[in-house]
Amino acid sequence: MDNLPCPCQSGFGYARCCQPLHQGQPAATPEALMRSRYSAFVLNHGDYLLASWHPDTRPASLNLDDGGQWLALEVLESDESGESGRVHFRATCKEGNGFAVLEERSRFVREYDRWFYLDGEHTVTPLKPGRNDLCPCGSGRKFKKCCA
Ligand SMILES: [Zn+2]
Ligand SMILES: [Zn+2]
Repeated sequence: MDNLPCPCQSGFGYARCCQPLHQGQPAATPEALMRSRYSAFVLNHGDYLLASWHPDTRPASLNLDDGGQWLALEVLESDESGESGRVHFRATCKEGNGFAVLEERSRFVREYDRWFYLDGEHTVTPLKPGRNDLCPCGSGRKFKKCCA
């Protein structure tokens, strides 16, 4: 597991990317926290998702079982100023036989030197790749030869 590429697709190994955060190390930036939360969705670390959620907006519990399978993450923009941060990202997931793209603008706040996810506005768009299109999972292969 430690040698696996990080699920957040940073290009680093999990052990050098999101794993330390999942083990309690504070995220250096809102983007790092957002990436670690995406990885936590992929790896089903519900506890981490709740712990990194700001207490004001944190749900009482999370059910990760209904979710689709997360395939790809693309961070479009991120910035921080003072104690607040924003990350705009796009994540692709597979649900049943279909795909969807979630695009979200998330807000983060820093308290006691720790970043927390506050809330976000998102849209979900169904994705219908053609058989010869590039696969939505980001593998670089044609859809019909990959996740179809
Ligand atoms: Zn990562
Ligand atoms: Zn694929």
